[in-house]
Amino acid sequence: MTYPLFVLVNLPKYSNLSGPLTYSHDKILPAGALVRVPLGKREVLGIVWHQTSGLNQVKSSEKSIPTDSTESTTPPYSALNIKPITSEINGIDPLNKQWLDLIDFAATYYQRSLGEMAIQALAPQLRDLDSTQIARRLKKNIRKTDSKSAAASDAISNSEHKSSLELNLTKEQEQTLTEIEAFPGPFLLWGSTGSGKTEIYLRYVASVLKTEINSQILVMVPEINLTPQLEDRFKRRFASLLKNNAGQEIVSMHSGMTAAQRLQAWLATHSGQARIILGTRMSIFASIPNLKLIIVDEEHDPSYKQQEGARYSARDLAVYRGKQLGIKVILGSATPSLESWHHAQKDPQGVGTARYQLLKMPSRIGHASMPKVHLIDLNQQPRGTVFSAQLLEAITLRVQRDEQVLVLLNRRGYAPVLHCQDCGWKSECMHCSAYRVFHKIDRTLRCHHCGIVERVPQFCPQCGNADIAPLGKGTEQMEELLGSLLSGVRQSSGEHLNILRIDADSTRLKGELNHQLAKVHSGEVNILIGTQMIAKGHDFRKITLVAALYPDTALFSSDFRAPERLFSLLLQAAGRAGRDATLANASTSEMWIQTQYPGHPLFQALIEYDYQSFAKQQLIERAQAHLPPFSFQALIRAEAKTQEEAQLFLNTAKESSVHILKGIRGKYSGSKASWLQFEPALFPAIAMTVQRVANIERAQMLIECDSRLMLQEFLRHWQVELQNLQGQFKGVTRWAIDVDPLAI
Ligand code: ADP
Ligand code: ZN
Ligand code: ZN
Repeated sequence: MTYPLFVLVNLPKYSNLSGPLTYSHDKILPAGALVRVPLGKREVLGIVWHQTSGLNQVKSSEKSIPTDSTESTTPPYSALNIKPITSEINGIDPLNKQWLDLIDFAATYYQRSLGEMAIQALAPQLRDLDSTQIARRLKKNIRKTDSKSAAASDAISNSEHKSSLELNLTKEQEQTLTEIEAFPGPFLLWGSTGSGKTEIYLRYVASVLKTEINSQILVMVPEINLTPQLEDRFKRRFASLLKNNAGQEIVSMHSGMTAAQRLQAWLATHSGQARIILGTRMSIFASIPNLKLIIVDEEHDPSYKQQEGARYSARDLAVYRGKQLGIKVILGSATPSLESWHHAQKDPQGVGTARYQLLKMPSRIGHASMPKVHLIDLNQQPRGTVFSAQLLEAITLRVQRDEQVLVLLNRRGYAPVLHCQDCGWKSECMHCSAYRVFHKIDRTLRCHHCGIVERVPQFCPQCGNADIAPLGKGTEQMEELLGSLLSGVRQSSGEHLNILRIDADSTRLKGELNHQLAKVHSGEVNILIGTQMIAKGHDFRKITLVAALYPDTALFSSDFRAPERLFSLLLQAAGRAGRDATLANASTSEMWIQTQYPGHPLFQALIEYDYQSFAKQQLIERAQAHLPPFSFQALIRAEAKTQEEAQLFLNTAKESSVHILKGIRGKYSGSKASWLQFEPALFPAIAMTVQRVANIERAQMLIECDSRLMLQEFLRHWQVELQNLQGQFKGVTRWAIDVDPLAI
């Protein structure tokens, strides 16, 4: 007898309106089971879906058949045109209902196909290996586990490392822990940099591991490659948890791992063996059967939002997952995203939604204070000043005392543009509407958008002039300049200064970043120059001076989130200074900002480290301008051979909106749902800021709506229009919807 099987596969151009595909099999498999199925000429991975048909109708498994019973409500099925599955994948438990629901929610919310969402959420090797290969891998994993003693069960109870227990929590930390224990959350832990947030995570993780048998915990960080320290801290803290087992109790999940490592971590997590999962945004989709706690560190960080394919927000999904499972979620930050902040306010004037519980830890550990902020007005400086005399003097003083200095400049390379003084030629990229950046180190011009690399021409390609010069400044040039400006300065030992640059270029090789960070931690580096990479999260102990060189461009960006991001970046950077209160000069640590707009409210708030009033001001502006979190947005981007075609495609699609809205209201006629009164506003299509990348023209259209539900419903229907329309616009190569876009 054969039965039909609904299976999710990742089809190219798989419309979000098409559901799972139907295959046949000689028995019924439970939803969540992994199978291999034929697809065209290929054989691919599939996930058995609930055995009721249709996408978005399967909201709960109540309707699905009892899969472990042979008395199925589905009639025996004679396959006509339906292909049988190739094989079952044995040895891996089916993904559970909560996981399937998470995928269903994410696919619906982010307007992607279920199949794409589901398959991409798995470890890549699960889809790349066939069932025999997977079986072999499983066997190998089991052998590994067996070879070490597996008496882990009571290791948990004394899993906390001794030295950490000697550390007394501060009053604020104790209060915070008590509240986390007592309330259901979700929590927004708003704590200064260095207030001991990580210590809270460690303690609460220990407590959950102790009280909940077999519990698993997900800890997310924005970029795990940048924070090997956190991994270390967890591994040290829970050392005895590791000791007794096969080394699978704490696993990482991030894109820096090999496919084999990722599969191993995925299997350890899915099987329940991994108790602590440390991961970047992708880990939100891990199958974690006994998940009991989710922590999202630096919750404001934009890298929680996936910027291609299914553009999900891992932070928002963490909150969803927490609610779905009835478990606690802790979002932590010194500068929460304004969305989260808004959700943590309950203000009598009706501002805020009180959806999150706010926990405050304003003080830094050991009474270390935040560095004092000095604003240097560049208008008062001689023209062309790069490092003001005052700043140079302050830096000199610090390094002479063997304290460390961090210089932040958010632009890598030597100079953003190369330029001919004779004819005005600039190093434009021939494929993109952007300049190629001059990298002096290997004398190349690199386009940071399409990646094309070329040797720097010796003569101007346009007029032959030999006098081509760099315009503007990047990290490479700062490194060089600072080296020469401070060439006479010595460390206390009389040795020359060590200046180290850390950015995407200096850390391209695997392991290089960790290697360089280790140099900073060991104290061997005097001055660290870098991009935002070095501003985030690192627990540098000897830095007492931080300088931000040209932060001004963000003040006038067309993206309404730019000020929020700049404030957070500068505050994070400042947080790198004076972290060790036992250090002699920690209390006199400094943050220097060189700007042409010292009077700007953002800098004025920063001087006081007054996130609260900055956030309040920003939220007032957002409310007035009707921007998120007071409205909901989606962005649709289209790529085409010409800009006109990309825009015409979007604008034509826009015309159908009236008719779609009418359809929605018709469909729900008789319903009194309040969201039906809202109407999405579609703005005219415009070229994207970098409108051409690798010879492809890019346009976008913003959609705004006061109701999330209406926006969702609208997008779902509008997709069909867009799909149909694409057939008429042959030049349109791609289009995609970005729900809750972060970059506009
Ligand atoms: P955050 O995550 O808020 O930046 P951390 O948890 O990293 O702060 O704490 C900053 C530093 O203070 C760390 O080196 C940590 O070990 C130390 N620390 C944390 N809590 C305490 C405490 N209660 N007593 C002493 N030191 C602490
Ligand atoms: Zn020229
Ligand atoms: Zn380019």
